Amino acid sequence: MKKSRILVVGGTGYLGRRIVAASIAEGHPTYVLRRPEIGVDVDKVQTLLSFKEKGARLVEGSFSDRPSLVAAVRQVDAVVCAISGVHIRSHQILQQLKLVDAIKEAGNIKRFLPSEFGMDPARMGHAMAPGRVTFDDKMTVRKAIEESGIPFTYVSANCFMGYFVGGLCQLGKIIPSTDSVCLLGDGNVKAVHVDERDIATYAVKAIDDPRTLNKTLYIRPPENILSQREVVMAWEELIGYELHKTSSSEEDFLSDLQGLDYAQQVGLGHYYHVFYEGCLTNFEIGEGGEEASELYPEVPYTRVKDYLKRYI
Ligand code: NDP
Repeated sequence: MKKSRILVVGGTGYLGRRIVAASIAEGHPTYVLRRPEIGVDVDKVQTLLSFKEKGARLVEGSFSDRPSLVAAVRQVDAVVCAISGVHIRSHQILQQLKLVDAIKEAGNIKRFLPSEFGMDPARMGHAMAPGRVTFDDKMTVRKAIEESGIPFTYVSANCFMGYFVGGLCQLGKIIPSTDSVCLLGDGNVKAVHVDERDIATYAVKAIDDPRTLNKTLYIRPPENILSQREVVMAWEELIGYELHKTSSSEEDFLSDLQGLDYAQQVGLGHYYHVFYEGCLTNFEIGEGGEEASELYPEVPYTRVKDYLKRYI
């Protein structure tokens, strides 16, 4: 089967870079949006040039210039957006409404993967403020996609290992501690951890797959469905000794909310839902969903312990 031409939007970002790499590796003609707004950001320019060296085409287009977005979209068959989440109060995710308009006008796109790649926002209607803004904004984008009749796949990627495994699931840490660890509650609530490169591979594989059309792709690699205690144990096995353990009750954890800046408050809410409430694993994938490691068993996904070896 001929592989779809894929346009990656947000390609120089943390996840975007991995999506560009996966698209090239999977043999798709790969296009990357080059926004004029990046100006003299030499790091982004060099990253874009490195994509070109690997065979990607750079396409100029701006969120402030609709015809340029429409023209970019017309060159391809599928679009993956990996624009920033809500780390600051700017609702960047909603920029995608402009992309949705452009895709609608272009009329040629066979699959759109909007920037989701986290918890399933459709299951987070009860989420705490201010963190719920992430889910509300992503739902606004979903509504626009569905009202426009654009074929889509939503990717629910669960916990990026770089953030969660890296910090042994502790808020505000991305490097594993070597002396002590604070368990969230009893530390036994199951979460799902995924290497960002695997997220990108699964997302790209879904693009030409009729089984994922207008569905949510949940990435739940079975060996990576682990509690915080299990992640800590994997680390302890690698370093050869046990960490000193404290724990934070639900009340203590939530009482920290005041006094944090906005981005930290958003993060705290997300950690709360994942590690106290168990929102990633407290439901069965039903109709309207597919599980990535079942659809693509050929992907040799990274296990948590192997990911942790990089920190030794
Ligand atoms: P980044 O913060 O790395 O940013 C990605 C790209 O967004 C940037 O490289 C840039 O693209 C683009 N961008 C930023 N600001 C603007 C703007 N004002 N206008 C247009 N484009 C802009 O994003 P992440 O990779 O961290 O996040 C991608 C997705 O993954 C989000 O949906 C986020 O919520 C989710 N996520 C999930 C996590 C999890 O654990 N599940 C963890 C972190 C993120 P360009 O290349 O054009 O400059």
